[in-house]
Amino acid sequence: MNFNIAVIKGDGIGPEVVQQAMKVLDKVGKKYGHNFNYTQVLMGGCAIDATGVPLPQETIDVCLKSDAVLLGAVGGPKWDNLVGTLRPEAGLLGIRKALGLYANIRPAILFDSLSGACPLRADIAAKGIDIMVIRELTGGIYFGDRGYREGKYGTEAYDTDCYSELEVKRIAKTAFETAMKRNKKVTSIDKANVLESSRLWRKVVHEIAIDYPQVSVEDMLVDNAAMQLVKNPSQFDVVLANNMFGDILSDEAAMITGSIGILASASVGDSGPGLYEPVHGSAPDIAGQNKANPIATILSIAMMLKFSLNLDKEGKSIENAVAKVLKDGYRTLDIAENNTKILTTTGMGEEIAKNI
Ligand code: NAD
Repeated sequence: MNFNIAVIKGDGIGPEVVQQAMKVLDKVGKKYGHNFNYTQVLMGGCAIDATGVPLPQETIDVCLKSDAVLLGAVGGPKWDNLVGTLRPEAGLLGIRKALGLYANIRPAILFDSLSGACPLRADIAAKGIDIMVIRELTGGIYFGDRGYREGKYGTEAYDTDCYSELEVKRIAKTAFETAMKRNKKVTSIDKANVLESSRLWRKVVHEIAIDYPQVSVEDMLVDNAAMQLVKNPSQFDVVLANNMFGDILSDEAAMITGSIGILASASVGDSGPGLYEPVHGSAPDIAGQNKANPIATILSIAMMLKFSLNLDKEGKSIENAVAKVLKDGYRTLDIAENNTKILTTTGMGEEIAKNI
């Protein structure tokens, strides 16, 4: 089959890691008979240098016409002094909005061979960690009514956590659909003992659950979830959370698996292309040195194959190749341990491509 992929390499290590992801994707295409056509577009600091804005209209147009978008990372010290709307990171918010990406999907997987990097007790790590955090991305307290007012004790500031049924329904559906492709368990996070918005959240999640009888659903208060993630992470399959709870818990879930260099993510909406990117930034401190770990970006294209292109087998082949390369003792510097073989960014991309 033919697929059109918009590629935003971005700044810093972005171009280096994206190049390796494209190499792996090409190998997948060769092996399984698909054709991936890339259109490279600008966003972030490189777009500011070339066009004066972080997100040119052409980039939005190309992304909207594509089957999926692959992104490296944007930003760097060169552009740090620009005003907010002209900073590279404004491009990120802009593209998410333009593509209507309301669901952020972040896997937290502890590879057996990287269990040494897990900050949890060995007996807890030994039970394995394979969690998919589904975070609502465009609603809730980050977007609700906010402001300042005069109160009893002087100036007050307030933010409002507001969710509509529609917003909860669509993100809950994403979680249940994801669980159907995994171990069929959804843990829905809320604070329903205190918050009205959480009570609506819980009600709607249970209404959606009726359509997925094979999936078990449990509610968990966010404070308990924060504890359970470090106490017994192997109990989780899909974790569903609103924007703020998901923001916090997805970082917690990610960090219990080790290095930022291996963390992938996807942002998807109702229809149209999804956006696939590593969790890390542009790492200016190691940019241009062929040292960056490309695994987060490579695992992001595995997500792209599964979520946007419906190529499950092909996505799995990338995950298997990454696991094999790590098991064989190959590492980039950020995840190096004793007795491991250190590869450059390019070397790691080649090794993974070889194992597809
Ligand atoms: P960062 O993720 O770029 O780097 C943090 C640390 O992790 C650095 O020491 C870096 O060398 C290391 N690191 C990151 N990715 C790595 C990889 N693949 N392999 C090996 N080591 C890796 O975060 P930061 O330093 O806070 O931010 C740098 C720039 O990136 C800033 O301009 C920031 O705004 C931007 N940023 C962009 C995104 C994005 O594009 N989505 C996300 C976060 C930060």
